[in-house]
Amino acid sequence: MPPKSRLGQNFLRDQQAIRRIVAALGDCSDRTVVEIGPGMGAITRELAAKAGKVLALEVDRELAARLSAEFSAGAAGLGDDAQGTKVQIEIADVLSFDFAAASVAAGQRLLVAGNLPYYITSPILQKLAENSDALDRAVLMVQREVADRVMAEPGSRDFGFLSVAVQMHGPVERLFTLPPSAFSPPPEVHSTVFRWRFAPRFRELRVERAPFLKFLRQVFALKRKTLANNLRAAGIEAVVIADAFSDAGIDSKARAEAISVETLAALWRVLNSAGTTSTIEVAPEVD
Ligand code: SAM
Repeated sequence: MPPKSRLGQNFLRDQQAIRRIVAALGDCSDRTVVEIGPGMGAITRELAAKAGKVLALEVDRELAARLSAEFSAGAAGLGDDAQGTKVQIEIADVLSFDFAAASVAAGQRLLVAGNLPYYITSPILQKLAENSDALDRAVLMVQREVADRVMAEPGSRDFGFLSVAVQMHGPVERLFTLPPSAFSPPPEVHSTVFRWRFAPRFRELRVERAPFLKFLRQVFALKRKTLANNLRAAGIEAVVIADAFSDAGIDSKARAEAISVETLAALWRVLNSAGTTSTIEVAPEVD
């Protein structure tokens, strides 16, 4: 069966990397792990050996059928405690998957693992962020440039909406990077594995999730402009912005990528209490 590039099918063939991805989840012997895009089962087999239960979501029917056959054959041959009984392959689009219901069914917050299909990395990160209450931690492989943006800190060229939108849902850690030759067929890019521990910061920073994410999207809308100009473009009056900057301790010429999320939260609180954030009309997606 030839790999389908439109579904981001670049299969991992580096056994050491596979072991490191699963080990990075920590002890998962009594946990349910959701695997995004099991493909040919490279990571699934290692998860089957280490996790309490594996729920693998694969959108490609042919691959899902192959994996189901492999794991149910394993279960039939090895008895009830065999790895096949604890691996469930679902034909599913991860973007439509109900993580909250799966977490309730499992009676615990879920772990997530995946060598992600790169064509939908941002929507998947957004989906996980939206479901962070149902999730404990994730170990994910993404294109290296995307990992750079996810992990970026204020002051870095890569710091932007994706960085804050992810990091507002919990800390991220870079683990390791693989060359294209670790995959078959090789992609055109390097790939980086990172860990994300879900611990949303909205309450701690005293901001409301949806309006604050909307605000952040506007703040980072035009990276070459100053923060003040981006807020002006969102319809907030110059005098209101100047007062809010002075209350939040922000320089009038500052660019958003130089400002910490704590200071952005302080700015949002000032603008929100002045009733100005409601004028911002931008969708809160991660990209
Ligand atoms: N985990 C395997 C590995 O590491 O070799 C495969 C990884 S491959 C990069 C991405 C996998 O995600 C493919 O098997 C692809 O069919 C699957 N996929 C693509 N879009 C998907 C979606 N919307 N929902 C679930 N799986 C998807």
